[in-house]
Amino acid sequence: MTMARKRLVIAIDGPSASGKSTIAKLLSKKLGYTYLDTGAIYRALAWKALQRKMELNSEKEMSRLARQSSFKFHQQGGDYMIMIDGEDVSDKIRHPQVSEAASKISSFLGVRQTLVKIQQEIGAKGGVVAEGRDVCTKVFPEADFKFYLDASLAERAHRRYLELKEHGIIVSEEKVKEDIQRRDRSDSQRTHSPLIRCEESIYIDTTDLTIEEVLNFTLEKIKFREGDFLSLTTTKN
Ligand code: C5P
Repeated sequence: MTMARKRLVIAIDGPSASGKSTIAKLLSKKLGYTYLDTGAIYRALAWKALQRKMELNSEKEMSRLARQSSFKFHQQGGDYMIMIDGEDVSDKIRHPQVSEAASKISSFLGVRQTLVKIQQEIGAKGGVVAEGRDVCTKVFPEADFKFYLDASLAERAHRRYLELKEHGIIVSEEKVKEDIQRRDRSDSQRTHSPLIRCEESIYIDTTDLTIEEVLNFTLEKIKFREGDFLSLTTTKN
């Protein structure tokens, strides 16, 4: 008999640039888990629709596009890659135009149904740190841990501004702030799976915290309940 540790599902929701990706990536690395960036899937689909100059307001077209697309993820060390129909779009999906389009098409139920299914398949065996807008409420409602990351609008705009600059995308911080605000509004007010802070999520305001502080806080919470996730298993000799 040996003690086996359950491979957990850790779900992190929050508004744009609240630190979800940074923390989810670091957590997944620490735990040896899969990192699931659900936003990247909406972004990849939006990128494809933009490339094809499709009508983004057509729920029927966007839902069909979601059903007809294939997504692949690759994780190596600290590098994460997303492919749509075999094309690596990891660096192409961070542009503000893609963010805007992703927010638009993610409001459609048909799109969400297809993409949520893909996300659930990835997390089915556990050992996943997923981040997005509805991972606590819809994708993994039974997650072992749920976190909601937040930060002031000014701080989030500043972080996103620096991130875009690093990728060679020059936009004024004021414009970034406006874009984030508009996207937040649309993500939290849509009919299907809006961004909400669910009751059982552990709320973390990251405004004045360092990345290390947030990471340590989440790891502490997980460690504290470590015993809950041990089970006795019989190993064959
Ligand atoms: O997280 P990220 O900013 O990359 O997400 C891009 C957009 O995709 C969000 O603004 C949101 O509209 C949509 N999204 C979603 N549900 C998720 C993840 C992202 O609707 N689980």
